Amino acid sequence: MKEHKDTIGIRSQIDRTQYREHSVPLFMTSSFTFGSAEEMAGMFAGEIPGDVYSRYANPNTEEFIQKMCLLEGAEAGFATASGMAAVWCSIASILESGDHIIASRSLFGSTHQILSQVLPRFGITFTYVDGQRIEDWKEALKSNTRMVLLETPSNPALQIIDLEAAVKFCKSNNLILNVDNCFSTPIIQNPLLMGADIITHSATKYIDGQGRVLGGIVLGRADLIEKVTFFCRHTGPAMSPFNAWILSKSLETLALRMERHCENALQLAKNLSESEHVDQVIYPHLESHPQYELATRQMKMGGGIVSFKIRGGLEAGRNFLNRIKMSSLSANLGDSRTIVTHPASTTHSKLTVAEREAVGITDGLIRISVGLENIGDINRDILQAITPS
Ligand SMILES: *Cc1c(COP(=O)(O)O)cnc(C)c1O
Repeated sequence: MKEHKDTIGIRSQIDRTQYREHSVPLFMTSSFTFGSAEEMAGMFAGEIPGDVYSRYANPNTEEFIQKMCLLEGAEAGFATASGMAAVWCSIASILESGDHIIASRSLFGSTHQILSQVLPRFGITFTYVDGQRIEDWKEALKSNTRMVLLETPSNPALQIIDLEAAVKFCKSNNLILNVDNCFSTPIIQNPLLMGADIITHSATKYIDGQGRVLGGIVLGRADLIEKVTFFCRHTGPAMSPFNAWILSKSLETLALRMERHCENALQLAKNLSESEHVDQVIYPHLESHPQYELATRQMKMGGGIVSFKIRGGLEAGRNFLNRIKMSSLSANLGDSRTIVTHPASTTHSKLTVAEREAVGITDGLIRISVGLENIGDINRDILQAITPS
């Protein structure tokens, strides 16, 4: 009876109750007790089901994992302390020294640091490719390539990678497809159902959606998650029960929130398109997006992020931030509150102009994580800030 995602998010609760409580309680305990030496031995060995220690598993993290598996169509999962822990573990638990990764060039900043600064110390190398030109990926193939790593839509330029084509490339070359699905959430696209092998989420973003906790999750094929689980249980990046409890509650409203984020974002994108102070508006479900056809096929909704190029470049971008009245100036995204950033003068200011442009960040590019406020108020704030006084 739980076929729809809005219902799954609400009704797929765990049932560990002893007190008939309606809402799943918080199991704030580091360890669990056993009734006998035999039971203890059996649970430690994994022969008898049951919780042992919260670094391994806990009812709250189990509930979060179970809900996410149902929402993404995953065989199994492991919940981590942050999105970056999930990304790191999805690579480090599976690959070995000597392996090679093909990665799309526009990745989250810390993922780029893992590839370029951390993995080489363990003998794992990578090659960047243009995510949109899958026909060129074979040039990056090596005999030791084992994984393709990508994000779609990309941040902040919102380029779309064709997941169907990526799956085909990986299957025909016997590669593990690893997708960071953070921007889309399970409500908008489900890469595992399209044939990806493993996916990650930063639950810190839309899944919490209210800017309270850090969290992450790795989901995917059972044989791969078995490796992730072994790696995580013994290296220790487990999600705290408290954060899992918060995030399981957040999943009850994820579908509803995403509808409003996307509705507001599309409306804002349309309004921005009509402004004479804006050179270009980038939103996956806006007809002017260069990959509109792919975006509408692959994504159920357009997502909550709108990027646009303000006329006047770096200076205009800085002025825009300073004129904002209601929205928050913050590097985060996926919050109920609208957040604005100007990557060229903030998050990406250390890159050269050429490096920025290679990932679609021009001087005037503004990224808006459109929140859940009334669209009239969001519009007014953004539009007054782009209009020079
Ligand atoms: C934020 C983010 C991450 C990292 O998540 P944290 O929870 O901050 O560790 C990874 N990938 C993408 C696409 C993100 O936006």
